Amino acid sequence: HVPVICIDGPTASGKGTLAAELAMRLGYHFLDSGALYRIAALAASRAGLPIASSGEAQIASLLPQLRIEFAGNRILLNGEDMSEAIRTEENGMNASKVSALAPVRAALVALQHSFHRLPGLVADGRDMGSVIFPQAQLKVFLTASAPQRAQRRFKQLISKGISTTLDSLRADLEARDERDRTRSASPLKPAQDAVLLDNSDLSVETSVDLVLGWWQG
Ligand code: C5P
Repeated sequence: HVPVICIDGPTASGKGTLAAELAMRLGYHFLDSGALYRIAALAASRAGLPIASSGEAQIASLLPQLRIEFAGNRILLNGEDMSEAIRTEENGMNASKVSALAPVRAALVALQHSFHRLPGLVADGRDMGSVIFPQAQLKVFLTASAPQRAQRRFKQLISKGISTTLDSLRADLEARDERDRTRSASPLKPAQDAVLLDNSDLSVETSVDLVLGWWQG
């Protein structure tokens, strides 16, 4: 009976920050499922495969051959550190496209399940509570307004020295959300038993304390 907490929600809603902090506080494993779709997108584009349904079978068969490792907060692909390369807006958009392909999603299920180990797991994504860990004891669906999310992503990228504009970020994230919500494979929507949390006006600490309170009952 391994405990799982799922944090799902749209792009840049603060899921990653909340989930990583919860995992640290609880001493649990952490699954950043978006990073897997980002790695899949990067590997597919490096292999010259079309990021579209015409490439789905080839992308899906490429995935089991990849050696994907998490080392602290770094992510390695076949031993190469891809932590920065996967975070570009271009690769984010490609990740959004590959993640709409059902065979690609299916090829990543077992890898996601392998994170479900003692002492417990905090999983962050779009379908953690609805598809991957339906048995989770706590499911949070995190939202924040689009301007707020664009602002957060903007700060994140600027602090990493990546130049961008608020307008283009907002347009990008709205396009990704729209694709996530309308795709037929695991569309973005709260699990039936998810708790909704709008963190537009909450600090990270407040959100963490709130969720820990729910978890500890
Ligand atoms: O969370 P992040 O922005 O890193 O995820 C990258 C992309 O992967 C998202 O835009 C989304 O389309 C997709 N994704 C998904 N299912 C997940 C996690 C991410 O479809 N569980």
